[in-house]
This record gives sequence, structure tokens and C-alpha cells, in this order.
Amino acid sequence: MAHHVLILGGTTEARQLAGRLIERGGLKITLSLAGRTREPAAQPVPVRTGGFGGAEGLARYLAQEHIRLLIDATHPYAAQISRNAAGAAKLANVPILALRRPPWLPVAGDRWTEVASLGEAAERLGNAPHRVFLALGRQDVRVFSTAPQHFYLIRSVDPIEPPLDVPHATYLTARGPFDEESERALLQSYGIDAIVAKNSGGDATYAKIVAARALGIEVIVIRRPELPDVPTAETVDEAEAGAAHVLASAKRGE
Ligand code: NAP
Repeated sequence: MAHHVLILGGTTEARQLAGRLIERGGLKITLSLAGRTREPAAQPVPVRTGGFGGAEGLARYLAQEHIRLLIDATHPYAAQISRNAAGAAKLANVPILALRRPPWLPVAGDRWTEVASLGEAAERLGNAPHRVFLALGRQDVRVFSTAPQHFYLIRSVDPIEPPLDVPHATYLTARGPFDEESERALLQSYGIDAIVAKNSGGDATYAKIVAARALGIEVIVIRRPELPDVPTAETVDEAEAGAAHVLASAKRGE
């Protein structure tokens, strides 16, 4: 019987890994999405959508579906599902592998201020009005209505509904990857003087950091949350190799 692998997704890397593993053959792959995005990107494997009901719910799913390997390829800021995954793997005695992009590191010329939370980022903008680019998810921007003195340029995958309760905001919907030239043009055309961003890592959204460096714009970076200590791969290649290794051991143990 084909070994069943569950990939917790919502990232480009999860989709790429699912494609790689299905191409290897002899595996059944299910990719799980939280269901936040209205029109999620097409996936190369069957998808299930929606929460499991905490670590216990996920552990039940792992047992019912005879999952042989759980891969946590969620976004580095999706800390709850990562904690649930680690807990469920323990409860159900299923091997787990995380795929986490390494964070970006500041380089010469970057003007970064690291903060612990979105609320702290809103405070850091200060009292004087700024022109702020919020490169954040739909669920992350609401806190900025506590700082209505600023102009906000808000870019998200899905529309922000209802709009923020602030007098000056412009909304863009777009899905990465973004390139440096267009990011620079965007920042300049809106006269942006501060950016609030997560340290997502990877290439798809790094162009805004490079553009900010070139233009001398301050970036308020939300620090990554603590994530559980589980075996971790940093790239799709590493995760594919790690998964193959775990599944080969499972086969030998049959
Ligand atoms: P979260 O706070 O860690 O998760 C909240 C709850 O959503 C979880 O407890 C779980 O519900 C459910 N959930 C999350 N990811 C799931 C998945 N892949 N499959 C099934 N259920 C899932 O996560 P979040 O920040 O809301 O992010 C949700 C999804 O969006 C993740 O898959 C993540 O990869 C993706 N994403 C997040 C960000 C970000 O910045 N947070 C950015 C890009 C993409 P139950 O407890 O009921 O199981």
C-alpha cells in the first residue's frame, strides 16, 4: 500500500514539495490548507481544507488516515498549527519533519528595527504621520487602526474587508513573487518612508527589502515566533531527502 504523507501547507515550498514527492511515485500525498485564501493556488496533489480541531484533532486525523509522515510546511509565522503539529505527531507516534525557510539577515545598508509584535510595530511608527507600506496578511493589519495618523499602503492576497478604520489608506491585492524594480517604483510612487514586514525568508517577497535598502527606507521587522523543536529542513531539496529517508525506514520496519 502507498505510504500516506500529510503536508500542512499554505506556502510555495509546501506546493513544490508535494509536487516532488508525488513525482517520486509510490506515495499518497494529501496537502492541508487552513482555508484563509479565497482562491488558493492550484496544487499538484489532493487538498483538504480547514482546521483539525487542535493537536488532538490532528492526532485523530493522523491515525484515521494512517499517515506515515507529517510534514509541517506552514508559514514561519503560523505558530499555532506548528505547535499543534508537533503535539499531534507525539500523540499519534508519527514522524514529523518541518520545512522552514531560514530568516533574512540584515546586511549593510538595511535600516531594520526588530519588534516582537504587530502592536509594537504600530507603536514604533510614532506620533508624527508617516507613509507606511504594510506588507502583511489580511489578518495582521487590523491593529494599525490604533495609529490612524499615518497613511497606509496595504498589499494583501485577498481584499481587506471591511477596510481599516483610518482616514488615509490605499489597498492593493497581489500575490508574489515581486521583483525589485517594481517594488522600488511602488515605494517611490506612494512616497513610502516606512515598511512593516514579517521576516518571511525566501525569495518571493525579499524584493521589498532590497528596494527599501536602495531607497534608505526604514523597515520594521516583526520577529519570528518561537517554533517547536522538531527535525527541520530549510529547503525543498532537503525536505524531499529527509522525507525519503523517513519513509524508507518505515518501509524497512514493515
Ligand atoms: P495559525 O495561527 O498557526 O493557525 C491557526 C489555526 O488554523 C490552527 O490552529 C489550525 O486550526 C488552522 N490551520 C492553520 N494552518 C492550517 C493548515 N495548513 N491546515 C489545516 N488547518 C490549519 O496559522 P495562520 O497564521 O492563521 O496561518 C494559516 C495558514 O496560512 C497556514 O497554513 C500558513 O502556512 C498560511 N500562511 C500564513 C502566513 C502568516 O504570516 N501567518 C503567511 C502566509 C501563509 P485547528 O487548531 O482547528 O486545527
